Amino acid sequence: MAGETLDADIIVVGAGNAAASAAIAARNAGARVIMLEAAPKEERGGNSTYTAGATRLVYNGAEDVKTLVDLSEAELASMDFGSYSAEQYFDDMYRMTRYRTDPELCELLVNNSLSTWQWLKAQGVRFQTSQGRQAFKVDGKYKFWGGLCVEIWGGGPGLVDMEHAIAEKKGVDIRYETAGVSLLTDDSGITGMRTRHKGKTRDLTAGAVVLACGGFESNAEMRTRYLGQGWELAKVRGTRFNTGAGIKMALDIGAMPHGHWSSCHAVAWDMNAPPFGDLSVGDNFQKHSYPLGIMVNARGERFVDEGADFRNYTYAKYGHVVREQPDMLAWQIFDKKVLHMLRDEYRIRRVTKVSADTLEELVRKLEGVDPKRCLEELTAYNAAVMTDVPFNPAVKDGRGTKGLEVPKSNWANVLDTPPYEAYAVTCGVTFTFGGLKISTGCEVEDTAGHTIPGLYAAGELVGGLFYHNYPGGTGLTSGAVFGKIAGEGAAAHALGSRQRGG
Ligand SMILES: Cc1cc2nc3c(=O)[nH]c(=O)nc-3n(C[C@H](O)[C@H](O)[C@H](O)COP(=O)(O)OP(=O)(O)OC[C@H]3O[C@@H](n4cnc5c(N)ncnc54)[C@H](O)[C@@H]3O)c2cc1C
Repeated sequence: MAGETLDADIIVVGAGNAAASAAIAARNAGARVIMLEAAPKEERGGNSTYTAGATRLVYNGAEDVKTLVDLSEAELASMDFGSYSAEQYFDDMYRMTRYRTDPELCELLVNNSLSTWQWLKAQGVRFQTSQGRQAFKVDGKYKFWGGLCVEIWGGGPGLVDMEHAIAEKKGVDIRYETAGVSLLTDDSGITGMRTRHKGKTRDLTAGAVVLACGGFESNAEMRTRYLGQGWELAKVRGTRFNTGAGIKMALDIGAMPHGHWSSCHAVAWDMNAPPFGDLSVGDNFQKHSYPLGIMVNARGERFVDEGADFRNYTYAKYGHVVREQPDMLAWQIFDKKVLHMLRDEYRIRRVTKVSADTLEELVRKLEGVDPKRCLEELTAYNAAVMTDVPFNPAVKDGRGTKGLEVPKSNWANVLDTPPYEAYAVTCGVTFTFGGLKISTGCEVEDTAGHTIPGLYAAGELVGGLFYHNYPGGTGLTSGAVFGKIAGEGAAAHALGSRQRGG
C-alpha cells in the first residue's frame, strides 16, 4: 500500500494519557496521526481525566522535583520531599504484585519514569507538588510519604486538556465519537482500522495502529466473566467507554492474552455514587483516609487491617475486601481527633455520611449494620489500642492494637472524642489488570510469541505489569512511558514501510 494514499501513517485508538503520549511522540517523529476517541468531546480522555494526576516517578530529592515543578525558595524550604529511588520503585512493584510483574516491562516503567514526565514537560505539560494529598505537616514542614510528591497541574482534566492542546497544535487529527471497531489486516500485518461514527462504518487505512483504549472495567459482562461473580455489581469509578474493545479486537487477530485477568484495581467508593464516574465529582467519591480510622461491615465487625501500610499501598486492593463483605458495604468511622486530617474527598456535598455525639447513637445510625455487635466491636477495638506508642501519620508509627483477631498495625486511635463521623462505602473498580502481551518496543505479540507487524499497545490494556495490587500513581506513568515508546515504534514502522513503498 503506497504511503501517500493511506488515511494516516498511524491510527491511535483512544484519547487518554497513553493515547495522547503515543500521538505526540509519533507526530514528533514526523508521522501523520489520527486519534480516535469513542467518547464525545465533553467526556474525552478516559480514566486519565478522572484522576487527580498523581504520578509515581523516581526522584533524587528536590533537585529532580525542580526539573518538573517551578518552586520558590520559600516553597522549597517548606517541603521535605525525601527521595524515591529506582530500587524503592522496583521493590514496591515487586512487593505489590507478589513478584509477578513482568521484569522487562517493569524495568522500562521504572527507568523511564522521570525522563518520560520530563519529556512531557518539554512538550508543554505542567506539574505541581502534591502536599495536599501526599504529605503531612510535621514540625511546620510538609513531609512526603509513600513515594509520590508530584502531580499534574489541574489533575486529570488538566492533563488531558494540556495533552490534547499539544497534540492538536502539532497537527494530530482527533476524531470524537469515533470508535475503533476492528483491526484491518493482510499478510503483511496491520493495514488500518474499521471505525464507527454516529452509526456509520468507515475503514481507515494506516501503516500502524496503537491500541490505547483502556481495559474492560466498564463492561459488566466481561467483569463478571473474568473477575468473577458479583463484579457486575461494582461501581465503575471512571469512564463508561473502556469496554475492552481494544483487547477484544487484538485477541480476534491472534494476540496473546497476558497478566492477571481475574484481578483489577478497586477501592472503597461512596455507597451511593452513580454506576459510572461523574466528571463533576472526579475521584472524590473515593474514601481513602481509612488508615486514620476503622472500617466495619454489615455484621458490625472489622474485617481488614486499616493500618497495614500507607494508603498508597493498600487502597487498590481494599476495594476487593469491601466487595467481599455482606451487601458489598462498609462504614468508615472516625472521631474528632482525626477529622481535620481527612482528605478533601470527605468534605464534598455528595457523600453518604452520618455523625453522632456518642458511639451508641452512631451505631444506630449506620444503615445496614448490626448496632449491638458493632458497639461491642468498637468497645473491644478501643480497649486494644496501644496508647503508649506516639501517633505519627507521616511514618508507619507502629501504634497498633493488641490482641484483636483483626489487628490494626499503625495509626490506631481510641474512638473517644465526639463528634464521631461515619462514611458508607462500597467497591469501586478503577481498571482491570489483564490485557495484551507486548514486547519492550510495545509491539503486540501473538500467541506464538511473534510480534504482529504494525500493531502497538500502551496503557491499561497492556497485561503483565500489575498483579493483585498496585502502587498508587503508577497508571499515569505507565500510560506515558509505554505510550511514548509505542508512538515512536509505530512511527518508525509506518514511516519505514512508507519509505520502502510498502
Ligand atoms: C477515579 C480514578 C482516579 C485515578 N487516579 C489516578 C492517579 O491519581 N494517578 C494514576 O497514576 N492513575 C490514576 N488512575 C488510573 C489511571 O486513570 C489509568 O491507569 C490511566 O489513566 C489509564 O490511561 P489509558 O490512557 O490507558 O486509559 P484511559 O485514560 O482510560 O483512556 C482510554 C481511552 O480510550 C477510549 N476508548 C475506549 N474504547 C474505545 C474505542 N473502541 N475506540 C476509540 N476510543 C476508545 C476512551 O474513551 C478513552 O479516551 C485513576 C483512575 C480512576 C478511574
